[in-house]
Amino acid sequence: MDARTMFSASSTVRNVVLRSSYQVFMSKQCVMFEFHGSSEVFLNHVRLKNRYPSKVYRHSVHCFNDSEKNSKGPSTTQINNAKVIYSVAPAMGHNKELHPECNARVPAIVDALEKMELTSKFRGTEVVELQSWKPASMEDVTSVHAKPYVSGLEKAMVEATDKGLILVEGTGPTYATATTFNESLLAAGAGISLVDSVVAASKLSHDTPVGFALIRPPGHHAVPKGPMGFCVFGNVAIAARHAQRAHGLQRVFIIDFDVHHGNGTNDAFYDDPDIFFLSTHQDGSYPGTGKIHQVGQGAGEGATLNLPLPGGSGDMAMRAVFEEVIAPCAQRFKPDIILVSAGYDGHVLDPLASLQFTTATYYMLASSIKQLAKDLCDGRCVFFLEGGYNLSSLSNSVADSFRAFLGDPSMASEFDNPAFLFEEPSRKVKDAIQKIKHIHSL
Ligand SMILES: [Zn+2]
Repeated sequence: MDARTMFSASSTVRNVVLRSSYQVFMSKQCVMFEFHGSSEVFLNHVRLKNRYPSKVYRHSVHCFNDSEKNSKGPSTTQINNAKVIYSVAPAMGHNKELHPECNARVPAIVDALEKMELTSKFRGTEVVELQSWKPASMEDVTSVHAKPYVSGLEKAMVEATDKGLILVEGTGPTYATATTFNESLLAAGAGISLVDSVVAASKLSHDTPVGFALIRPPGHHAVPKGPMGFCVFGNVAIAARHAQRAHGLQRVFIIDFDVHHGNGTNDAFYDDPDIFFLSTHQDGSYPGTGKIHQVGQGAGEGATLNLPLPGGSGDMAMRAVFEEVIAPCAQRFKPDIILVSAGYDGHVLDPLASLQFTTATYYMLASSIKQLAKDLCDGRCVFFLEGGYNLSSLSNSVADSFRAFLGDPSMASEFDNPAFLFEEPSRKVKDAIQKIKHIHSL
C-alpha cells in the first residue's frame, strides 16, 4: 500500500480512528526509543494499514488517491484573483503533553485568521485555502532524506501505536506518535502543492499570490539521515527539490528567519550551487550550528549564508539585515522561486529564545519578501511554518503576515507593547552585518 492509498479512507473514518488512537496514546506512558537512522533497529516489518488519520481539524481537506490523479487544486479563476493561497495541516495526532511543539499551534493561527477576518469567508477570492493535496510521496521525501530513515520511521509507527508515544533520543528531543509518519507526509505534501499552485498562478497573473503552508511538524532541523529538533521531514527542502524537478525552477533561494539555525536545510544543500540557503538565527541557540564562516562547500561554496545575531536583536536589526544582506544576496543570486522557513520564535514573547522581533518585524519580512519575489521571480514565493511557541504572538504574527500579502496595513501596534522591549545591541549587530558582507562580498 503506498502513501496515496493510505489516505483514501473517508474523512469520517479517519476522524473516528484518530479520536480512538489519540485517547490511547494520551493514556499511555511515554517510553524512550533508540533511533539510529538505520532500518535494522526497527524490528517490525508490518506495513501501515489504512488506520491512521491524516487530517481532522475542522477544515475538511480531502487527500487524493490514485484514481483521482487528475484532480487539481484551485481553479484558474480562484488563482487569478488570489493574493494569498494557504494550506492547513495541523497534525492533530502528532502531539505530546506540555511539549512546546504541540497540536494547538496551527488551530490557534486558523482561529486568529478567522477572528481577524482574513479568510475567504471575509475576503472572497483574495484568500484561497487549498482544499486538496496529495501527501508527499516516498520519492519526494527521499529527494532529501536517506531511505533507511524514511522506511525506519514508517516501521516505527507500529511501536508508536503500541506504546502511545516514542521519543527519538538525542534529537532535541523529537517525539513520534502513531500518526506522525502520515501527518508528516501530509505536511510536506501541502508545501509541494502550494509550490504547484504558485507556479501555476505565476503563468496566469502578474500578481502571483504568496503561498503559506500552515503545517506541522516543522522541518528545518530534520537532517538527511533523521529527525531532529521537533522536526520530522524537511518540508522546505523537499519543496525546493520538487520545484526543480517538477517545474524546472533550477535556482531556489531559501530564507530561514526562525530564531534557530535551519541546520537540516543547511546540510541538505551545503554543496549545491543552485539552492541558496540564507539563515538568520540567534547566536549560540539550538543546535549550535550556523556559524558565520559556514558558507557551503565544493561547488556550493558561497551558496550558504549563515548570520548569527546577538541575543536581544530586534526590529531594527532585522530591517538592517533585510536591506543590507537578504535583498542584495537574493538580487545577486537571481532565483526562480523563493521559499521561506518562517519561524515565529524570534518574537520577544516567545519562550524558547531571546531575540526581540515584534509583530511589526514579521509584517516587514512578509511584505519585503513578497516584493523581492515580485522583483526577481514573477512573485513565486511560498512560506512554510517552522517554529513559534507562544500561541498569541505566533498567531498574531502570521495574521499580520497575511495582511502584508493582502496589501493591508499592519495591525502590529495593537499587539506590540514597547514596554516589553529593551535596547537592541546595535553595535554588535552592525559588526555582524559588516562581517557577513565582507565574507560574502556583498
Ligand atoms: Zn525555531
